[in-house]
Amino acid sequence: MAQSAETSPGVSFGTDDETELILQSLEEFVEQEVKPIADDLGETLTNPRLGHEPNGRLTDEVLEARREVRRKSAEAGFYAMNMPEAVGGEDVSAVTWYRANKHLAKQDVPLASNVLAGPGGPKPLLAQAEGEQVERYLEPAMRAEKTTAFGQTEPGVGSDSPNMETRAERDGDEWVLNGQKQWITNAPYADFIQVFARTTPQEEAGRHGGITCFIVESDEYEIGSLNNAVGATGMQAEVHFDDVRLSDDRVLGSVDNAFYDAMSFLGLGRVEIGATAVGHAEWLLDEATNYANEREAFGEQIGQYQAISHKIARGRANALAADTVGLKCAWLLDQGEPAIAESSILKWFASNAFWEIADDVVQIHGANGLAEENPFMDRLHRARIQRVVEGTDEIQLNTIAKQYGVEM
Ligand SMILES: Cc1cc2nc3c(=O)[nH]c(=O)nc-3n(C[C@H](O)[C@H](O)[C@H](O)COP(=O)(O)OP(=O)(O)OC[C@H]3O[C@@H](n4cnc5c(N)ncnc54)[C@H](O)[C@@H]3O)c2cc1C
Repeated sequence: MAQSAETSPGVSFGTDDETELILQSLEEFVEQEVKPIADDLGETLTNPRLGHEPNGRLTDEVLEARREVRRKSAEAGFYAMNMPEAVGGEDVSAVTWYRANKHLAKQDVPLASNVLAGPGGPKPLLAQAEGEQVERYLEPAMRAEKTTAFGQTEPGVGSDSPNMETRAERDGDEWVLNGQKQWITNAPYADFIQVFARTTPQEEAGRHGGITCFIVESDEYEIGSLNNAVGATGMQAEVHFDDVRLSDDRVLGSVDNAFYDAMSFLGLGRVEIGATAVGHAEWLLDEATNYANEREAFGEQIGQYQAISHKIARGRANALAADTVGLKCAWLLDQGEPAIAESSILKWFASNAFWEIADDVVQIHGANGLAEENPFMDRLHRARIQRVVEGTDEIQLNTIAKQYGVEM
């Protein structure tokens, strides 16, 4: 298992002054900058029947509100603060990034999830940009003027992504890209997509070699049907690449190496997912605690019933355990460790804790838990999604078992 190069005698869960300041400033930013934009749109953001076109696409006013939040956040220095200073980030540690993502998930303000760069924002994969790619893609993405997407999943492969059918073949000085992706987050709105394609057959390059990442601009691909997931309507879509001709300067990173590049950034993605899960879980438990102390049934506060109080107690235990794993995982990344097993444990454990807590919190609120104007079912749907994206529960458990020596 991963061990830190240096060991210290104590373990600290304290928040350093700089991180504390970032968390406070984030909270103020959400209150002062995000909330007025969300308030202007009112129910449009919280009622699932509003804010979308009939096919699920987000309406222009919602898209503009999201853009405004991202731009303001980039100006304030929050948006991609985990990225290296050399590309315009703040180089904050993985621990601080974990805490910021968690803190943000606890803010009950629609649009707050746009403050920190999510799947449409710049990620370490894009930080590999070189030459003209920096000015054309990376810098505008850092300033939130452009958004992107990450295209790996296809109709025929999801978890088994090295078996992808999308191909890029050499023709003279160019690459010719053909294939189809689906479930690509932010694809309907992105300015460019980072697309994974096989460039050398598995027989020659091995299962994980031979895959290259290409930057493809929005006027070079076709968006097919939206893949509307309950809880993320309008955010994912099919993308079709039909004889797209790309020059070498569209290769992100090095040819045939994209799978390994992506693997080295997996830990950070899982830290973000874990942080979000813990933040939502803690917020839900706060809401449930207030409700349990107020709502009466059969002449008693419902919190007096062990069936209710134990749901909250179990949830608190799981949220604390998930948070502890999250901090350990982020700390390992800061030590330069890949945290493969730990980030899979975090992704699996925190997502399942979030899911169970969200389900219990719906139950504690009774019919009010199911009401669409209340946020509880929305959180339940988000939790369910987290158990599938970026490596399903089963794939995380496979990784954990393998990392701890089970021959599979
Ligand atoms: C909301 C949302 C957003 C998404 N965003 C993106 C994105 O931005 N970019 C992108 O590329 N993809 C994205 N995806 C796709 C997502 O990454 C895949 O859905 C996921 O990897 C699983 O692939 P699959 O759906 O094809 O399931 P499959 O791989 O077909 O798996 C089906 C079932 O079999 C199980 N299974 C498969 N293999 C094994 C195994 N070896 N051992 C045990 N069980 C196994 C799985 O765990 C699952 O339960 C998104 C999906 C959703 C729902």
